[in-house]
Amino acid sequence: MAGYHTFGVKVQSKYLAIVQDKQQLFAILQSQEYQECLQEGMGWLVLGQGSNVLFKTDFKGFTIINRMPGIRILKETSTQALVEVGAGVIWDELVNWTLANKLGGIENLIRIPGTVGAAPVQNIGAYGMEVKNAIHEVIMTEIPSGNTHVFSNAECAFGYRTSIFKTSLQGKCVITAVRFLLEKNAAPLITYEPVQVELRRKNITHPTIQDTASAIATIRSEKLPDPAVLGNAGSFFKNPIVNETLIKELIRVHPDIKYHSAENGFKIYAGWLLEKAGWRGSKKGAVGCYEKQSLVLVNFGGATGQEIDDFASEIECSIKSRFGITLEREVRCIPFDNKKE
Ligand SMILES: Cc1cc2nc3c(=O)[nH]c(=O)nc-3n(C[C@H](O)[C@H](O)[C@H](O)COP(=O)(O)OP(=O)(O)OC[C@H]3O[C@@H](n4cnc5c(N)ncnc54)[C@H](O)[C@@H]3O)c2cc1C
Repeated sequence: MAGYHTFGVKVQSKYLAIVQDKQQLFAILQSQEYQECLQEGMGWLVLGQGSNVLFKTDFKGFTIINRMPGIRILKETSTQALVEVGAGVIWDELVNWTLANKLGGIENLIRIPGTVGAAPVQNIGAYGMEVKNAIHEVIMTEIPSGNTHVFSNAECAFGYRTSIFKTSLQGKCVITAVRFLLEKNAAPLITYEPVQVELRRKNITHPTIQDTASAIATIRSEKLPDPAVLGNAGSFFKNPIVNETLIKELIRVHPDIKYHSAENGFKIYAGWLLEKAGWRGSKKGAVGCYEKQSLVLVNFGGATGQEIDDFASEIECSIKSRFGITLEREVRCIPFDNKKE
């Protein structure tokens, strides 16, 4: 699987195929190899760039790599553009295309690794922006029937790092294209303090969406490890959301706790929890927490998927015993563990 996932652990998939259109996908569904994987109970898996997965062991099923291309404007008005993008397009290429075409709505999501087809799966987000706000529709092929469905934004059931594609439809569909509704005169979203600081450092007082994206690209390159150099899958855990009783108790014990109110409770910065529990820069064998961002677990070279999974479990136990909080994994572990998904 080298080259098809970013953690850099050495694993194999029993079968692997790259699909560039729906016909190739249908051919897989009819293949003997795919049927064999189903009969053996190992199933199938669709991947984009593998930047949000951890292979704990070899995958004895069928891996489908989505490389469906294409960016095209379907409809335009004086204020908006409806753009359809193939699921296999590299996410950052799309962001750069929107910037070159002066279309706003996904610029703060610059430099997030991965493909367009995976973006709705966990409703990618960064620097105050979530992809759900720019998604108009998601087009997917249901597996095994091969039927095509178009999901409206509401039907995608987007939430914080989740959607219907990560819950009830996980393992039941392949996203083939995403339609985005983008704004022609978008105002930049600069609510995050680090973005404001970076813009000030560049002496930009009236930023455009291009300025904002470029500031965020700079911050990200300083803060996050490059998977080509250090294997990782970005933030390993989600920021936990707790109720009022627990947040009040946590504030009493830890007045410096980093949190903010969210739709359904209070969102605590998981990075703060890890740092407070002493995980920042920690290392065990070839696995560790990235020194500039504890939430990112890294493979310093030669770590196995099981070692990374064990390290993550240790963190989960320590956060549970210290704060009474159960961390939820953002990264999907393979072979699938229903308890953790
Ligand atoms: C350095 C780094 C920084 C990151 N920063 C961020 C960040 O700021 N914000 C953020 O939200 N994420 C971040 N991530 C996580 C990751 O980049 C995103 O989740 C990205 O969308 C994953 O894309 P992918 O193509 O690599 O998906 P994969 O890892 O290949 O797949 C992820 C999941 O989506 C499913 N999937 C993939 N393609 C399809 C498809 N076509 N149809 C149906 N299901 C599909 C897979 O089965 C899997 O369950 C970061 C990762 C790294 C390595």
